[in-house]
Amino acid sequence: MSRPSDESRVPRRFSLEGRDPQKWQQVKNLKLRRDPICQIRVKCQGAAASQVSHITPVSGGGSPYDPDNLRSACRACQQWTIRTASLRVHP
Ligand SMILES: [Zn+2]
Repeated sequence: MSRPSDESRVPRRFSLEGRDPQKWQQVKNLKLRRDPICQIRVKCQGAAASQVSHITPVSGGGSPYDPDNLRSACRACQQWTIRTASLRVHP
């Protein structure tokens, strides 16, 4: 069910657009160390987080590196936010 190719296929447009990938990696690792448990919890009940997503999407004016605009997410919840975000951006 979880294919390794999913990650690179789905969020590329969202994860790299307008961002420094190296800096993002740093910010992301820091966030995951601070909050290792999923903070979205629409698809889980507090699973281990492996992703970091923006509370306010960068495309919607959110700050890409501000810790206050970040939340840890498990894979399932991250997929969910990407899907809802893309629905919002492209109705
Ligand atoms: Zn989750």
